[in-house]
Amino acid sequence: MTRTVYVNGAYVPEDEAKISVFDRGFLMADGVYEVTSVLDGKLIDFAGHAKRLERSLGELDMPHPACLPDLLDIHRELVRRNDITDGLVYLQITRGAPADRDFTFPDPATTEPTVVLFTQNKPGLADSPVAKTGIKVISIEDQRWARRDIKTVQLLFPSMGKMMAKAAGADDAWMVEDGAVTEGTSNNAYIIKNNTIITRHLGNEILHGITRAAVLRFAKEAQMKVEERSFTIKEALQADEAFITSASMFVMPVVEIDGATIGAGTPGPVAARLREIYLDESRKVAV
Ligand code: PMP
Repeated sequence: MTRTVYVNGAYVPEDEAKISVFDRGFLMADGVYEVTSVLDGKLIDFAGHAKRLERSLGELDMPHPACLPDLLDIHRELVRRNDITDGLVYLQITRGAPADRDFTFPDPATTEPTVVLFTQNKPGLADSPVAKTGIKVISIEDQRWARRDIKTVQLLFPSMGKMMAKAAGADDAWMVEDGAVTEGTSNNAYIIKNNTIITRHLGNEILHGITRAAVLRFAKEAQMKVEERSFTIKEALQADEAFITSASMFVMPVVEIDGATIGAGTPGPVAARLREIYLDESRKVAV
């Protein structure tokens, strides 16, 4: 089936969608994005993603597109037109396509931002068998830029990190800066020691995950102890459990780091419980 995608105000078949070669997203990675999951045809944590998008645009002085207030309708319409039960909606906004390539930002009065949305169909997204076995990660040096709190489309290093993991027979990489874990290539990283959930504090060094915020809130509501602070790979190797969170993986157990098993080498009870709580609670308030 040909997907229907959204480009600058129009719903079009994917093979008819067009973006200018002068688009700054293409030439300069001058764009921001969001990924929202869909379960049972409904959007998970949409308000959180919309809020972070506004912040990313603001931090980059990027003009807000005219359709910004209608983003929920556009997401829903794409889910409907593409008949998505479980999957993802990808959204990207760039600074648009000025008349020529130039490092300076174009005048927002004459250059409109480019807005693109498309769906990805992922039947059974929340029932991934991997959640039952867990994933393996390797550690690599974090070589990204210093404003990782802005969700930009410059994903080359995370993409290289994923390839390094693959080459090492692992599923993902945890990035390390000044001896401390920042985050996974496309997810936030956690360890559990003596029933305390430990994850890096917020700052410019990591993306402020929407799933992270929800999971920490649910954990606190369930009287679990949470410490938002840096941790090392050495500490992670001695942890009882480890896991990651993201909008597309939800809560995913990590059972191996740099070839060494974590805990029993199988998903632990706390990560499994957090996954259950996150999915249950998020489905209840999905839109
Ligand atoms: N960190 C990075 C670097 C990411 O790319 C992502 C996913 N986009 C996350 C964390 C998780 O964020 P969220 O829970 O909002 O998907």
